[in-house]
Amino acid sequence: MEFATVGVVGAGVMGVGVAQNLAQTGHQVVVVDISDEVLDNARRELRNSLRTYALFNKNSGIDMAAVTRRIEFTTDYELLAKADFVVENVTEDWGIKQQVYEKIDRICRPEVVFAVNTSAISITRVGSATTRAERVVGMHFMNPVPMKPLVEVIRGYHTTPETIDTARRFLTGMGKECIVVEDVPGFVSNRVLMLTINEAVFLVQDGVTDAASVDKIFKGCFDHRMGPLETADLIGLDTILKSVEVLYESFNDDKYRPAPLLKKMVAAGLLGRKSGEGFHRYR
Ligand code: NAD
Repeated sequence: MEFATVGVVGAGVMGVGVAQNLAQTGHQVVVVDISDEVLDNARRELRNSLRTYALFNKNSGIDMAAVTRRIEFTTDYELLAKADFVVENVTEDWGIKQQVYEKIDRICRPEVVFAVNTSAISITRVGSATTRAERVVGMHFMNPVPMKPLVEVIRGYHTTPETIDTARRFLTGMGKECIVVEDVPGFVSNRVLMLTINEAVFLVQDGVTDAASVDKIFKGCFDHRMGPLETADLIGLDTILKSVEVLYESFNDDKYRPAPLLKKMVAAGLLGRKSGEGFHRYR
C-alpha cells in the first residue's frame, strides 16, 4: 500500500479526525502531540467520534477495534522516521508551526511530503521553514474530517506538480476529492468564511440581534445546514480569531479586523464546542 504509515502531528480537533479517517481507510497512523494528557483526551475524542460515525453511517460495517489498533499515540517525534507521508495539524500559530517543521524536516525521510492543515497560514512560508519546500503542500481538511468528502489543496510557491499528484493520490486513498487552489491568505474557503463569521460576531456585538437569530436566518433563508456562529463554535473560536488575525496581518486591510467580542470570548475561555460554550451552549 502506498503511504502505508502516515504521521499525524497535533492531536486536537483536526488531528484526531485525520487519524481516524486514515485508520478507517487502512493506514497505520502515528499521532504525535506534546503531552500524555493531551493524548489521553485525543483517545477519548477518537472513541466518541467513532461512535458518532458508526451511528450516522449504519451500513459502513466499521470495525472500531481494528481502527483503534491502527493508531499509535505518542509524544516521541522520532517515531515519525517511519512515516511515508505527514499531515501536520498543530495549533494555528506561526511560531509553533515553524518549530514543528524544523523538527520533522530533520526526522522524516527527505522524499516524504508534508501536508499543512491550516486555516490561513501561508504554505509558502511553511515551506521556507524546511529544506523541502517543493514537497510541502497545503491540505485544508474540513471538520469533522471523516464526514467531509472534499479537501482544499493549496499549491505553495515552490510546490511541484509531482507533489500535487502525490497529494491527490494520498487523498484518494482517504476516500476524498480535492480542489487545488493557489496560496493566498485564507485560500478560498476561509477568506470568505472567516470574514462572514467575523461580521456575524459584529452583528451580535452591536446588538442587532442574538446568535440564535443570526444562525436561523442563514439556515432558513439560504438553506445552509449550519449558521455562521454554529460553524464558529464547531471550528473553535480561538482558531477563528487566529485565522482572522492572519488575514488582517497578511492583507493589511481593515476589513479583516477581528471583532472585539470575538477577542473577549476567547480571553474568557468560551471557545465553542471544545470548551462546552461559545455562541451556543453544549453542556
Ligand atoms: P486544536 O487546538 O484542537 O489542536 C491543536 C493541537 O496541536 C493540540 O492538541 C496541541 O497540543 C497540539 N500542539 C501544539 N504544539 C505542538 C507541538 N509542538 N507538537 C505537537 N503538537 C502540538 O486545533 P485544531 O482545530 O485541531 O486545528 C489544527 C490546525 O488545523 C490549525 O492550523 C487550524 O487552523 C487547522 N484547521 C482547523 C479546522 C477546525 O475546524 N478546527 C479546520 C481546518 C483546519
